[in-house]
Amino acid sequence: MSNRKTEIRFTQPMVTIEREKLAQWQLSKIEKNRIKIETGVRVVEIGAGWIKTNSNKKIRFCYLIGADGAASIVRRSLKIPSKNISIALQYLIPNTSFCRLETYFNSKLFRSGYAWIFPHKNYTSVGCVCGSKYLSSKDLQKNFHIWLKRKEIDFSRGERQAFPINVDYRGHQFGNIFLAGDAAGLASELTGEGILPATISGETVAELILGEIEIAEKKIKEILSIHNFHKKTVNFFGKLGYLQGVAFQLTALLLRHKRIVKIFLEKIY
Ligand SMILES: Cc1cc2nc3c(=O)[nH]c(=O)nc-3n(C[C@H](O)[C@H](O)[C@H](O)COP(=O)(O)OP(=O)(O)OC[C@H]3O[C@@H](n4cnc5c(N)ncnc54)[C@H](O)[C@@H]3O)c2cc1C
Repeated sequence: MSNRKTEIRFTQPMVTIEREKLAQWQLSKIEKNRIKIETGVRVVEIGAGWIKTNSNKKIRFCYLIGADGAASIVRRSLKIPSKNISIALQYLIPNTSFCRLETYFNSKLFRSGYAWIFPHKNYTSVGCVCGSKYLSSKDLQKNFHIWLKRKEIDFSRGERQAFPINVDYRGHQFGNIFLAGDAAGLASELTGEGILPATISGETVAELILGEIEIAEKKIKEILSIHNFHKKTVNFFGKLGYLQGVAFQLTALLLRHKRIVKIFLEKIY
């Protein structure tokens, strides 16, 4: 099969938002007279009821929420392994000529992952994601460069970013210590997206601490139902090996039907 045939492209009617803008908006919601925020500080050690920062400051806690990303020190201090990791890499290129959000499924290059072109106002994010159990970060990078070359995308002036995404959920409450977002492994194994589960799980942890157990449990159940559906989907495609290309073709054919697209999107988001 030609490359054209083994690759499936989706364009989506979506919008993008810059992380910094989202973070600024979140910060604006915080009551600054009640909450103290310290930036540029790293937690370097965690003990029973205390944390130590890189400025050697010891802070005691009643509750600790680890919202510290894929390589969470809080998660590590709980001795929770992170075996299921996705790798995402992207170039932020100063090219604003792309106008649609595009995702490309190409099982030869990205296995059950995908590549994307996400236009922003002043730049375009061109990236890819794949589970580290299917491709090493080195191979993913190599395949991504093949794909960029084929698409004739110039990334020479782009800012390269490569990070792990933790999709290995093993619980969110451990006594008075909680995990949220990537620290809890709540990002999607299928799409690599983790901003929404991070936001919802952060809210959920706060509700748990405030004793709003019923509301919190309902939310976490919903997040986990989507998380597990994505995991099963990836495992299904992963087991197909190189037949993934055929499976994606069939999926693409099915997705031409509006009703199926609706059901699919409802399940994904
Ligand atoms: C290239 C790439 C593209 C992506 N694109 C998307 C996308 O389009 N949509 C989407 O939904 N998701 C996307 N994701 C996934 C998304 O970025 C993560 O799932 C999401 O950011 C997780 O949020 P978080 O708050 O849990 O962790 P993070 O956003 O990683 O935030 C963790 C914070 O903790 C801080 N921290 C870490 N360690 C310490 C420490 N020891 N002490 C103090 N602070 C610490 C970090 O500095 C950081 O500020 C992408 C990921 C990558 C790598």
